[in-house]
Amino acid sequence: MTWSSLTGPLLPSLSLTEKETMHPETQLIHVGRNTASAIHAINPPLVRTSTTVFSTLDEYKQAQRGIVFDGPRYGRSGTATTFELQRAMAELSGTETAIATSSGLAAITAVLSAHAGPGHRILVSAGIYGPTRAFCEEELVRAGTVIEYFSSSAELSALLCDDTSIVFVETPASLTMEMFDLVAISSAAHARGVPVACDSTWGTPVFLDAHALGVDISIHAATKFINGHSDLLLGLITGTYDALGRVRAHCDRNGTHAAPDVCWLTLRGVRTLAVRMQRHQTSALTVARWLEAHPAVRRVLFPALEADPGHKLWKSQFSGAAGPFTIELPPCSEATFARFIDHFALFGLGTSWGGFESLVMPAVPHHLRAIDGASDAPRLVRLHIGLENAEDLIEDLDSALSVLLYASGESGSHPTSDD
Ligand SMILES: *Cc1c(COP(=O)(O)O)cnc(C)c1O
Repeated sequence: MTWSSLTGPLLPSLSLTEKETMHPETQLIHVGRNTASAIHAINPPLVRTSTTVFSTLDEYKQAQRGIVFDGPRYGRSGTATTFELQRAMAELSGTETAIATSSGLAAITAVLSAHAGPGHRILVSAGIYGPTRAFCEEELVRAGTVIEYFSSSAELSALLCDDTSIVFVETPASLTMEMFDLVAISSAAHARGVPVACDSTWGTPVFLDAHALGVDISIHAATKFINGHSDLLLGLITGTYDALGRVRAHCDRNGTHAAPDVCWLTLRGVRTLAVRMQRHQTSALTVARWLEAHPAVRRVLFPALEADPGHKLWKSQFSGAAGPFTIELPPCSEATFARFIDHFALFGLGTSWGGFESLVMPAVPHHLRAIDGASDAPRLVRLHIGLENAEDLIEDLDSALSVLLYASGESGSHPTSDD
């Protein structure tokens, strides 16, 4: 078998028009399978190799030219398996190209680093994923980049200036779930010639068509919903060939690439992405509506709910919402809070989300960190609603929340008997 038979035709076997008219569920079944027919299989082969070998000097020379992530060169630039996933992701995102990286965070730092340096100003949306913020503050600022934060498209417009190198937005915000207007942000940035990058992990290509809304560089922690099985870390960056130019060069120089095994597993996750997202959405809404009516819950922060301040924007820019979402609980002592969290039987206690299993996590957004542990602060809890039966999940939540109802007599700001 030769490399050329493994990499398959550069263009997908179905024409672009055929793919564009397909429903997302159908498209998910057909993308990333171009190399399968060469081995008479349904699934593409898993190609593991460090060295890529060529049959002629001419072929070898061709491969070393430029920066390519869609053809054989050297293991670090990917193998046929990587190219399958990248092509699949580009097609699902309605754009030209994709780059796979070793984690979602690696994708984010690659995009930011490619636009950073002395004399560069990066505008970042408030409430950004904690490690993204830490990278901006600890790494980029130290290296001479100016970082500024915006809470709305109006604030962004006022901050845009000649040395703005990129706008980085995440919608909705991590933990606090505020929505950002991608259309307004993109048009304001583009009017100044500034590209827009978006962390689209929450929406996935199934519920968020980021490029159609104006985003130039869309980033996914495929670790979450796209793979969906909680067994790997992977980042994916999509955009036109031109929009990803600097990012591609950065990745090439920094060795950020994903392992072929991880790409292969993610292609398997992709097949069920649409059905999983629908099920996550139905259950998340059922659970969220039940929580809204619960006496121990102050607020449910979830743009898919009519009462959420971001609901209108969510409805106009997303075609669905699978979660995760956050709930606000009344102040309580640390001991009561621990009893509440430790009470869960079905919800696992852990960070991350997007897998088949439900998870619970105390949420401490950056701007609340200073008062973390203060017993009079409202408690935020992030929930990921997995693929279990929603009624079982509600029962588990009901049982844990009863701990708070029984403790509701305690005074939040003073030590109580259980402190
Ligand atoms: C988890 C997450 C990431 C990071 O992805 P990893 O693969 O865990 O590095 C980035 N952005 C968001 C919004 C996330 O939730």
